[in-house]
Amino acid sequence: TPIDKIRNFSIIAHVDHGKSTLADRLLEMTGAIKVNSGMQVLDKLQIEKERGITVKAQTATLKYFYDGEEYLLNLIDTPGHVDFASEVYRSLSSCQGVILLVDANDGVQAQTVANFYLAFGRDLTIIPVINKIDLQNANPEKKDIIKISAKNGTNIDQVLEAVVERIPEPTVDRNKPLKAFIFDSWYDRYRGAIVMVYVKEGVLSTGDQITSCCTNKTYEVRSLFFLRPDEEKVTKIFAGQIGCVICGMKTSGEAQIGDTFYLKGSPVEALPEFKRAKPMVFAGVYPMDQSQYISLKAAIEKLTLNDSAVSITRESSIALGQGWRLGFLGLLHMEVFSQRLDQEYDAQAVLTVPGVTYKAKIFGSKNIAKYRGDEVIFSNPSDFPNPVITQEIFEPMVLGTIITPDKYLGNVLSLCIERRGKEKSTKNIDNERIMLQFILPLNEIIIDFHDTLKSISSGYASFDYEDYGYESSNIVKMDVLLNGTLVEELSTILHCTKATEKGKQMCKKLLDIIPRQQFLIVIQACVGAKILARENLKPYRKDVTQKLYGGDKTRRQKLLARQAEGKKKMRMIGNIALPRETFIKVMKK
Ligand code: GDP
Ligand code: MG
Repeated sequence: TPIDKIRNFSIIAHVDHGKSTLADRLLEMTGAIKVNSGMQVLDKLQIEKERGITVKAQTATLKYFYDGEEYLLNLIDTPGHVDFASEVYRSLSSCQGVILLVDANDGVQAQTVANFYLAFGRDLTIIPVINKIDLQNANPEKKDIIKISAKNGTNIDQVLEAVVERIPEPTVDRNKPLKAFIFDSWYDRYRGAIVMVYVKEGVLSTGDQITSCCTNKTYEVRSLFFLRPDEEKVTKIFAGQIGCVICGMKTSGEAQIGDTFYLKGSPVEALPEFKRAKPMVFAGVYPMDQSQYISLKAAIEKLTLNDSAVSITRESSIALGQGWRLGFLGLLHMEVFSQRLDQEYDAQAVLTVPGVTYKAKIFGSKNIAKYRGDEVIFSNPSDFPNPVITQEIFEPMVLGTIITPDKYLGNVLSLCIERRGKEKSTKNIDNERIMLQFILPLNEIIIDFHDTLKSISSGYASFDYEDYGYESSNIVKMDVLLNGTLVEELSTILHCTKATEKGKQMCKKLLDIIPRQQFLIVIQACVGAKILARENLKPYRKDVTQKLYGGDKTRRQKLLARQAEGKKKMRMIGNIALPRETFIKVMKK
C-alpha cells in the first residue's frame, strides 16, 4: 500500500464510553469480522472480558474503500483506565491522529481530559466523536461533531471517512535503511516473544538479520504478520505500517518497548524513547507454598514480558520465604497482574499490602556504608531508616483531577481532606459539574480511594491522577510486638496522624487470627517507644496427648512427632510459634 493510503490512529476515551464497541463496529464495517458476532474482539484477555476494561493495547489493520481507492487503516485500541497511561503513550507514538470518544450521557470525564492533553501535546489530529446517541436522555451538543451509536452502528461510516480525510498520512521514508520501533510485545507459549513494530523507515522482510539498538543482539526475522485482527502472514512490512515480528526472542529482557531495530550492518540512530511508565505502587509477591517458587518465577517472568510496566526485584521475608517485590503503575494494574497470574499461569501467589516509595534525608551518614549518599530511597518497612539519623522524610504526591456533579461536592471534599489532600483549584465545567484538582499523597489513594469516590458520588465522579513529585512529610514506621518481640514482617509505613487508628485495627485483627497458645500473648502496636494499641490473647491449654490418657505408647509418640512436624513450618517470635497462614492473612491485601 502506498504511504498516502495509510492511516494510523487510536481511539481514546474515558472507561466505558464505548471504545471497544466502536472498534468492533469498525472491524465489521471493513469486513474484518462478521457483523453481529456479538463479541468484543479486541478485548482478548479473559480479565478484560470479566471486568470490561482494556488492559493491553491491541491493534488491528483494516482495509477500507474510499473514493474508489483501498486504504489501510491501522487501528490501535488503547486502555482507558488511569493506571495504563503508559499504554496510551506507547500507542500514540505510532499514530498521526485519534478519535476522541465521549459518551453523550456522561459527557467529558477525568480520563477524557487527560487523554485529550496526551494527544494534543503530540500534535495529533483529533476527531471528536459523541457516542451513545441512541439513549433516551442523550444530550449531544449542537456542534459540528460526529454523533454515533457504536452499539447500533449508526453513523460509523462518518467516522471512517473522517479518519481518511482528516488524519494525515504517516511521515516516513521507504528508501532509507530499516528503522523499526518496538511499541508492544507479548509472550506466546509456543512461539516466544511476539514483537509489534511500527516501521518508520525502510522495509522489514522475512529472513532479514535485524539488530536491536538497546542490546546490540541480532535476530533472524522468522515470520511477519498483520493483525486483521486474525494473523495475516506477510513477507514484508513497509514504512508507515504496523505489524508483528517473530524473531526467536526467548527471554523477557529482550523485547524492550521503545527499542529500535535496524538491518545488521546498517546501524541507525535509535528513535527517541517515549515517556517510560514509572511504577508507583509496590507489593511483595510470594509463592503460596515454597515448593511453587520455581513455577511462580517462570510465570512472573512471562507476564512481565507482556507487561513491561511492572518492575521486579528480589525480596525475602523470614515468614514467607523467597519472593519478589514488584512495582506497578497503580492499584488496578496490580490487581490485573495478580489475576492474570492466577488465570493464565495457574500460579498461586500471596500479594502483600501495597506501599509506595519514600525518600529520606540522612544526617552525617558518611560512616554508615549502607547510606552512602545523604538520600535513602525505600519502600519496604524493613529498610526504614533509623529515626536518630533521619533529618527529613519525603513521600510521593499526585495531582488528582476529579470531575463530579455539584451535588456530591461536599462528599468529595471531605474524602479528599480525610486523605490528606490539599485543594489546588475548582472550576465549573458546565451547569451541573465541577472539576476539582487536589494534591494528594499517593499512599492515600492506592488502597481504596477510587472505590470510595465512586460510592460517595453514586458512581458519578471520575478520577485521574498524575505524578506530582515528593513532599516533606511526617512519616513513621509502626511496629507490632508480640510479648515484647518485634515481628518484622508486620511493620507498616504510614503518616503519623493515621498511626493510632491503624495500630488499633492491626491489634484487633491479630487477636482474631493468631492461634491461641498455652500462655498469654500481649499484642502491641507502637511507633518507636510509644505504644498505640494493645490486645491480650488469652492462653489456651492444648495437650494433644490428653485424650489418649492410658492409650498405647506408639500412638502417643506418633502424635507428638506430627506436632513437631507442624512446628517446623512455624515462624518463632520469641517463644510464640506462628504458622505461615497467620502471616499470609495479615500481610495479604
Ligand atoms: P470501553 O470501556 O470504552 O471500551 O467501552 P465498551 O465498548 O466496553 O462499552 C461500555 C458499555 O457501553 C457497554 O455496555 C456497551 O454495550 C455500551 N455501549 C457502547 N456503545 C454504545 C452505544 O452507542 N449506545 C449504548 N446504548 N450503549 C453503548
Ligand atoms: Mg474496552
